[in-house]
Amino acid sequence: MITFLPVGGGNEIGANCFYLNINGNGIILDCGIHPQKEGFESLPKFELLENKTLDYVIISHAHQDHIAALPFLIKKFPFIKIFTTPQTRALAELTLHNAVSILKKEINDEKFEFYTHDEVDLLIKMINYNEYEKDFLLTSYHQLPEAEVKAAFYDAGHILGSASILLNNNGYKIFYSGDINLTNQAIQSAAILPDTKIDTLILESTYGATDSSELLGWQNEAERFAKEANKILTSGGSVLVPVFALGKLQEMLATIWQLMKKGKLSQVDIFTGGIGTKISRVYDYNRYVVNRIDKEFELNMIPQNNYNQFNSAEEFFRNPSIVLASSGMMIKGTSSYDFAKRFLQQKNSAIFTVGYMDERTPGYLISRSRKGDKISLESTDKAIEVKCEIKNFRFSAHAKREDLISIVKKLKPENVILVHGDEVAIRWMGKEILKTFPGIKVYAAFCGREIVL
Ligand SMILES: [Zn+2]
Ligand SMILES: [Zn+2]
Repeated sequence: MITFLPVGGGNEIGANCFYLNINGNGIILDCGIHPQKEGFESLPKFELLENKTLDYVIISHAHQDHIAALPFLIKKFPFIKIFTTPQTRALAELTLHNAVSILKKEINDEKFEFYTHDEVDLLIKMINYNEYEKDFLLTSYHQLPEAEVKAAFYDAGHILGSASILLNNNGYKIFYSGDINLTNQAIQSAAILPDTKIDTLILESTYGATDSSELLGWQNEAERFAKEANKILTSGGSVLVPVFALGKLQEMLATIWQLMKKGKLSQVDIFTGGIGTKISRVYDYNRYVVNRIDKEFELNMIPQNNYNQFNSAEEFFRNPSIVLASSGMMIKGTSSYDFAKRFLQQKNSAIFTVGYMDERTPGYLISRSRKGDKISLESTDKAIEVKCEIKNFRFSAHAKREDLISIVKKLKPENVILVHGDEVAIRWMGKEILKTFPGIKVYAAFCGREIVL
C-alpha cells in the first residue's frame, strides 16, 4: 500500500513536508518552515510522524520553506538518511548556518530547542548527495523487496541545485515537482522532465491563481525594468531592488549586468551584500556541472560594492546606483527593510519589487503604495509619506499555470496531488486538470489528511 500524508504545507506555501509510505518504506519529501509564522507554528507537524516508519528524507532545494526545518527533524529522528543534490547540500551549509541566528531572533519561545552551528556542521556531513538523473536506491529498514524504491533527481529549473524527485517502486512511479520552472531565467535554464509515464504526480501550484497575462516572461520584464530604471537613474536617483538572497539575487544581478552590457540600462554602481554574496560564489563554482544558459558566465565578474562595508544608506545616493538587498519581502530587521525606510524618503529614487509578496509583510504594503500615500510599516510606527517611486515587476522562478498543466499532459499520471499553493490556486488547478484530462483523480493536499493511492 502507498499512502501520502502532508505533514506541513499542503494548501499553503510554507513548511513543505510530505510523508510517503511506500509498502513500508517511509520517505519524507522536503522539510521546510513557514516564513510568515512564528515558533512551533512555523514548523511542520512532526507529531504526525510519531509511530511511523521513517527511513529517508529527500530535499528538493535549499529555500527555507523546503529545508529549514530539517535540523529539527533530524534532532527528533536522528536515524533518518538525508538525500539532496550536491548544490543543495552546498547551499544548505550557508543558509542553515545563517538561520541559526535568525531563527533565535524570530522565535521567542523558551521551550523551543534551537539547533546550533555544531549541529548544522554535523547535519551537512550526514547529507548523501546525488547528481541529476542518476538513480539511487532507497531500501527500507526491513529490506523488504516490495518496499524498495529507486530514486532520481531531475533539474527543476527553479534555483541552483533545485530538483524534482522521481520515485520508482517496482514500476509504480511517483513524481514530486518541488518548486519548478519551465522557462529560462537569466542564469538558470528551464526544468528537465523525465521521459516516462508517471502514476502519481505531486505538483506545486504557486501560480494557479495568477492570470498568466501578469507574467510577461523574463526577457520582456527585463526590458520593462530597464526602461523604468533609466528614468530614475538618469535623473540622478537610485533604485532599491529587494530580493531573496538565494536565487533571485543572482538572477537579478545577471539580468541587470546583461542589460548594462547591451546598452539598454545606464551603467551605474551596483550594491550587493549579506549572505547573497556567499551564495553567488556557490553559483559560480558550480557553473560547469549544472544546466545553465551560459556556463562561462560568472557573477563574480560583475563589479559590485558590498553594502555591508558602509555604515549608512547615504552611500546609495552619492551617485545613481542599483541596490540589490535581501530579504525579498522586506521583512523587519533585514537589510532591504532598513534601506527601504530610507528610500521611501528619497524623492527622485525608487523601490522596484521583482517577485511575490506575502500579504503579511512590509514588502506587500510598500508594493501596494504609491507616491504621496501615507503608510506605517509597523503598527507602532507613525505613518510616513511615500516620497519615492514604487514599481512592481514579476520575474518568476515558478511555472505559470498553463505550464503546470502541460506537466500533467506530458507525464500522464493517474493521480495528481496538488501542493504548494493557496486555496484559490489549488481550486483553479484542480478544475482545469479535471476539465482537460477526464479520468485523472485530483487531490488537494491538506495538512494531516492522509491520501491512500
Ligand atoms: Zn523555492
Ligand atoms: Zn517553495
